[in-house]
Amino acid sequence: MFNMGAEPEPRIYARDKHGIARSSISHGALKVCEILRAHNYSGYIVGGAVRDLLLGVVPKDFDVATDAHPDEVHRLFRRSHLIGRRFKLVHVLFGPETVEVSTFRAGEGGEADEHGRLLRDNVYGTRVQDAARRDFTANALYYDPHDETVLDYHGGFADVRKKTMRIIGDPALRFREDPVRMLRAVRFAAKLGFSIDQKTRAPIRELADLIENVPAARLFEEMLKLLLSGHSAACLAQLRKEGLHHGLLPLLDVIVEQPQGERFLRLALDQTDARIRAGKSVSPAFLFAALLWHEVLAAWKINEGKDLRSIPALYLAMDQVLDAQTDKLSIPRRLTTTMKEIWSLQPRLEQRSGKRAFVLLTHPRFRAGYDFMLLRAESGEVPMELANWWTRFQDAEMEERNAMLIPDAAPKKRPRRRRKSTSGSAPAPARDGPEN
Ligand code: ATP
Ligand code: MG
Repeated sequence: MFNMGAEPEPRIYARDKHGIARSSISHGALKVCEILRAHNYSGYIVGGAVRDLLLGVVPKDFDVATDAHPDEVHRLFRRSHLIGRRFKLVHVLFGPETVEVSTFRAGEGGEADEHGRLLRDNVYGTRVQDAARRDFTANALYYDPHDETVLDYHGGFADVRKKTMRIIGDPALRFREDPVRMLRAVRFAAKLGFSIDQKTRAPIRELADLIENVPAARLFEEMLKLLLSGHSAACLAQLRKEGLHHGLLPLLDVIVEQPQGERFLRLALDQTDARIRAGKSVSPAFLFAALLWHEVLAAWKINEGKDLRSIPALYLAMDQVLDAQTDKLSIPRRLTTTMKEIWSLQPRLEQRSGKRAFVLLTHPRFRAGYDFMLLRAESGEVPMELANWWTRFQDAEMEERNAMLIPDAAPKKRPRRRRKSTSGSAPAPARDGPEN
């Protein structure tokens, strides 16, 4: 429909060449394409889903691209809403599934800042233009569920087979337009086991500082995607290798020189990757708390050296670290609140006197705080014996718990989680000073 005159023709791969089974496409995405088509619009599965299906990986979600304008798409689907982040998109809901529908865009003609960063990217265009504005060749394939073909304008099909991330167009120009693409290159390469094409890679080191011009909230989102990719350790290693870690998380610099910090971070990342790959949930707050912990420790120590008492010194350190971080990569408040709770539980977990130990068990973040302490123990920061104590204490019967407490310390009341009644009554409450 859009191939007017000189427009380039895509390569077309038929079902027997690409091997993607229609049954591997989500119900919602198929439905969206079908309904668009019934109304004389085009509808293709695009982006990561096509790439992943070619690789035999189950896609995270399905994106659809169309020549219908967002308002038209919205009108076609009762359960849909327009969302306007950087550009207008439509989210179409099918039960628990959300299909993101985007209108073909031209990718140029928008405003740019003095470094060439596109400030707006919302000019509609043809399918050919839409393919050209995408970031990597592997991400610019169009699957048409109607005739089961894959359309390829930029050699993405061959690049997927070769496991190569290759940017579309001039690398330096495309990275200037949107520096986040450098992070995306690293994330996809690490996650998919691809190499970054030599020409694509070449300008990255030189342009790395442009990351600093990206709005902090967007950087946070991208960093989160990277950390939750199931390959965070590989991603961070590659970020360092490409010189891209400066300014993102200052600790990534510092940590290399602190063996203990390095070990702690590695354990945290490995654990996160293992959970994601096993399909378990991961708490972003826990992860960021881990990423910044050694910064907090360093600031805490400095504050204590300035004659502050230990706990106020820690609270000050937490704020200092989070404030410094906000300029670069702003962590949303909903996370920082939890991060602070996890951090502030750490010194409390090091005291095992009776009443406090029982109170801690009922703390809403106890589990996260305890998991965090396990990492600290495994990295050699606190004695393993402390972690083991808490492991046993949590699961012990009341009698054993009481026996485990440091002498003269016992709870006033039994904890809520009642087990079968144990012998006798709990010892009298201890005077172990005010809680907290
Ligand atoms: P994921 O598996 O992480 O979802 P994805 O390739 O689907 O990978 P999305 O962020 O969901 O990535 O974006 C969907 C598609 O939109 C991409 O495949 C790419 O074609 C295009 N795209 C996304 N971000 C950019 C960008 N910064 N510059 C150019 N194109 C982009
Ligand atoms: Mg996607």
